[in-house]
Amino acid sequence: MQKRNQGLSTRCVHFGEIDDPQGSPHTPVYTTTTFAFASTADLLDVVEGRCDGNFYTRYGLNPSIRSLEAKLASLEGAETALAFSSGMAAESALFLTHGRKGILCIGDAYGGTLELLADQLPSLGIPTKFILGNELDCLEAMLQQNVGLVFFETPTNPTLEIFDICRITEIAHANNALVAIDNTFASPVNQQPLALGADLVVHSATKYLGGHSDITAGAIMGSSSLLNPILEWRINLGQIPSPETATLLSRSLRTLVVRVQHQNESALKIAKVMQAHPQVARVFHPGLTEFSGHRLAAEQMFGFGGMLTIEVNGTGKDTSRVVDRLKLFAIAPSLGSVESLVTQPVTTTHHGLTPEERSRVDAESQTV
Ligand code: PLP
Repeated sequence: MQKRNQGLSTRCVHFGEIDDPQGSPHTPVYTTTTFAFASTADLLDVVEGRCDGNFYTRYGLNPSIRSLEAKLASLEGAETALAFSSGMAAESALFLTHGRKGILCIGDAYGGTLELLADQLPSLGIPTKFILGNELDCLEAMLQQNVGLVFFETPTNPTLEIFDICRITEIAHANNALVAIDNTFASPVNQQPLALGADLVVHSATKYLGGHSDITAGAIMGSSSLLNPILEWRINLGQIPSPETATLLSRSLRTLVVRVQHQNESALKIAKVMQAHPQVARVFHPGLTEFSGHRLAAEQMFGFGGMLTIEVNGTGKDTSRVVDRLKLFAIAPSLGSVESLVTQPVTTTHHGLTPEERSRVDAESQTV
């Protein structure tokens, strides 16, 4: 029944669901924090890894969480997946586990990620470096010193820059560095980084995967050998999502394909209208043939995504006026949900950045 070669929509609905004795077609929510064993021998089988089983919810050994993780893994074509209490929880566990030799971040990224990389991880002695998309010529040289992990988003937040996953991965691997990709902006429907050679995929599941603005969660997908040490950090940092959140996220994943495909179509239509508008200076959307990343996106993505960014012809205040006058769009700092949202990154995701950091990432672009 549950085969990984089934289509993505089928896996979204069926994969990972437990065989429920009461006949529920979906895994019920197990709020239980600690699971009972018939004997000490049975308990030791689970604790010592001889048998899969439930044990203690913070460890992730809870049916609702394990069922979610099986589904998440299948969606990215991964051997295994770990669910987290937020996208930032997932990223911090990833960096603490695999970034200690040094992290190279390519291109612009979510503001919280940039803060973590620019300030907080270096304060723990973890070396971090940054290069922009137009500086990729120096990638090989940068990889020579203190880099064990290459990290990037593609498309990026908020300028939707597209990076060549195969090429960057090839260069990183030749220099003994792992590659982790934040696939939040694409979702597994539009892009499959592991199939293109990446080692790890990370998601803010708060976005497309959750899709209803009612879940804060994160995920990492990859091989067991890379995820097992991340799991140790997740256990002791206590970054597990609640079983209720895990169940809600599994529910959302069942409609992921239909939601994302519809969002792809809507965003492209709006991008074309915006492109023709006299008060719009630039439109960033990978589906526009004029967009710099279009060709690469068409090669490595299955769809162009539900996000688009416009640069208003005018000042930041003019942009705020545009944002304030939108009728259907709510002013809110997120993405990937069923309602339409608008955010001016300088007031939200990139608000905490210094002016230098902001001008580096062109954060004054206005994401719709
Ligand atoms: N990665 C990207 C691309 C994001 O846009 C965000 C949040 O906006 C995050 C990571 C962090 O996710 P969370 O808010 O779930 O911690």
